[in-house]
Amino acid sequence: MLVLVVNAGSSSLKSQLIETEGKDARMKCLAEKVGTDQARMSVAFAPDFQKVVYNVADLSVAQCLRKLLDIMTDDPESPISGLGQIEAIGNRIVAGGEYFTKAALIDEEARANLDKCEELAPLHNPAADACIDMLRKLMPNTPQVAVFDTAFHTTMPPKAYMYPLPMRYYEDYHIRRYGAHGTSHRYAAQQAANWLGRPLRDLGLITCHLGNGGSITAVNHGKSIDTTMGFTPLEGLMMGTRSGNIDPAILTYIMRREGKTFDEMDEILNKESGILGISGTSSDMRDVLDAAARGDEHANLAIDMYVYRVQKAIGGYYAAMTRTDAVVMTAGIGENSADLRERIFAGLAHMGMILDKERNDVTGQIGMNRIISIDDSPIKICVVTTDEEMRIARETDNLVSQLRE
Ligand code: AMP
Repeated sequence: MLVLVVNAGSSSLKSQLIETEGKDARMKCLAEKVGTDQARMSVAFAPDFQKVVYNVADLSVAQCLRKLLDIMTDDPESPISGLGQIEAIGNRIVAGGEYFTKAALIDEEARANLDKCEELAPLHNPAADACIDMLRKLMPNTPQVAVFDTAFHTTMPPKAYMYPLPMRYYEDYHIRRYGAHGTSHRYAAQQAANWLGRPLRDLGLITCHLGNGGSITAVNHGKSIDTTMGFTPLEGLMMGTRSGNIDPAILTYIMRREGKTFDEMDEILNKESGILGISGTSSDMRDVLDAAARGDEHANLAIDMYVYRVQKAIGGYYAAMTRTDAVVMTAGIGENSADLRERIFAGLAHMGMILDKERNDVTGQIGMNRIISIDDSPIKICVVTTDEEMRIARETDNLVSQLRE
């Protein structure tokens, strides 16, 4: 099935055209800094994926997508000549709230419920909804599916998803923990089960999505029972620019001391904290590792803090589950940084997670899932390479195929 995947962010658009049968990407697009005068969109077609960069200054995310569709129908390099050749559209949606427990076909009812989710991810969901509406007008006969970052975590029990706040905040505003990166955690868990040669329902897994954003999930018998991200993707681990867990009283303290507004605090916690905030140089782990190797103290501290917080989360979920068979590492840092993995598991050997240095040092290649623990490590350690757009395409194909039956 030829699926157009649309991954709309607050100021970015990622899109791919994917043939799900051969798991082949036919087109890849990335637009960044959308909404500013520096916005650029790169589009590349198979087989060479030579990027052509377009100026998309001051366009909205949905307008960038509209432009991409024009390019796809006009460019002689494009694998399609008309939009009718696209069989389904898969949209990534950050927040599905309590309305969506799995991927959903976007009909009138689902579209109305998407509106209700907008306030849960005010930076991301509206951009995705605008793309959906534009596509519904332009391609009314093409089925659209919404794939949610939160859906995998709807199996969390109340003791994990409730905050110890007055009950009325949950009842009135649905303030609870929703988690994120759900498609990634689900995929990592399934791939690890395949690799371990055991059914997912028999396993206890701790999946670690460590990228620019990061979260860790306890996956018990195939179900998410707890995850580090919460009401928003700000909770949990230290991330590229997000603080993760801090004492909430710090917010009001800084606001009083420096007269900061709500929006300024939002910006500090989401954009200026985490690895960037501590290292003072970059949010990118590669840069920070380089700086640490040159003896930069702040970079070293950022890495120590990052590692320590990941270790504590893994330890916490070891305690949350009845058994732990494997820890699964995925996303930019989890897949590619042997150095970070070594630092993380150096502190976890006493829990039975014993890394094999040689296996760990083999640098990852796309599609190279593998076990990196020693043979008799009581808890296995796996690396799973992730491809978010491919997973969305496959979920879209599954749902649309079921509906056709
Ligand atoms: P993602 O959000 O999954 O694309 O991950 C981005 C993060 O992965 C950035 O912090 C990158 O610096 C980090 N990353 C990617 N490759 C490596 C690597 N070889 N070593 C360390 N960090 C890496």
